[in-house]
Amino acid sequence: MEEFKHPISGTDYPGTFQEFDDWFNTETACLDFIAKVRWPDGYVCPSCGCKTTKPSLMSRGLYLCRKCKRQTSITAGTLFHGTHKPLRTWFFAMWFVTSQKHGASALGLQRALGLGSYNTAWIWLHKLRRAMVRPGRDKLTGVTEVDETYVGGVGSNVRGRGAERKSIVAIGAEVRGRGPGRIRMAVIPDVSAVSLHDFVLNHVEQGAEVHTDGWRGYNGVEKLGFRHRVTNISASGDPAHVLMPRVHLIASLLDRWWLGVHQGAIRSSHLDYYLDEFTFRFNRRSSRKRGLLFYRLMEQAVDCAPVPRQLIIGGRQNSAATG
Ligand SMILES: [Zn+2]
Repeated sequence: MEEFKHPISGTDYPGTFQEFDDWFNTETACLDFIAKVRWPDGYVCPSCGCKTTKPSLMSRGLYLCRKCKRQTSITAGTLFHGTHKPLRTWFFAMWFVTSQKHGASALGLQRALGLGSYNTAWIWLHKLRRAMVRPGRDKLTGVTEVDETYVGGVGSNVRGRGAERKSIVAIGAEVRGRGPGRIRMAVIPDVSAVSLHDFVLNHVEQGAEVHTDGWRGYNGVEKLGFRHRVTNISASGDPAHVLMPRVHLIASLLDRWWLGVHQGAIRSSHLDYYLDEFTFRFNRRSSRKRGLLFYRLMEQAVDCAPVPRQLIIGGRQNSAATG
């Protein structure tokens, strides 16, 4: 494989926009970078397993194995597979999205990229959001607070009453010192034991201590391989934000973000992907280097097959939280 020619600033990611612009000024440079992120230990031919021979880069982003002549697409199986737009434009979109503190809107992206269509920008953002969180990977560990909150719609926030028009979002937050560590969020159809146990199993590592309030939906979590700590909020006399401060911090940030950045205008069937974007940023909030965020998104984008356009427009098919 040809050596990527700019292994400098940060650690193999650009540190500034000037560097970004300089590194990725051709399609070949973008392909090289994708290959480098995709095969960090060097390209291995999927056909003959050969890793010593340098493949030649053909037009249309194909590697040709010099030994067995197998052609491999550098972008197949990545987010960029089958795109008709230049990779450079995709890279710019990723830089733009990761450099906005509160996330990018489709209109903002359309303007920044000079895209002809708002819909294209909207689809791109959704494709990128799908690369932001890898379900089932990196589960929360240690002591973890778990609670639910309600997003959008009208009606009361009381569990199980008048909340039909709102989406229910389950939140998990690691306890790290006085603040939260990493978080996970997901739309859940209801606050039943089935839904809540499912969330805990999918997002928290077994063996962890799950800290919840006394809601009966959390009963039995200890039988699934977790330690369960229950704080009965109403009996304690202390408000919930004192007893479970981390999930309540996340819920209020989510509320502010939902109303501020998106003016509450997210269809509930798409909410999961916005939650993924929120989570991606939140879990990397201590990283001040925008180049590193760009690099993390690239790592996940090369390991993430593209989703058909129709599925993106429809949102999560099995979401019960429609409204
Ligand atoms: Zn080969």
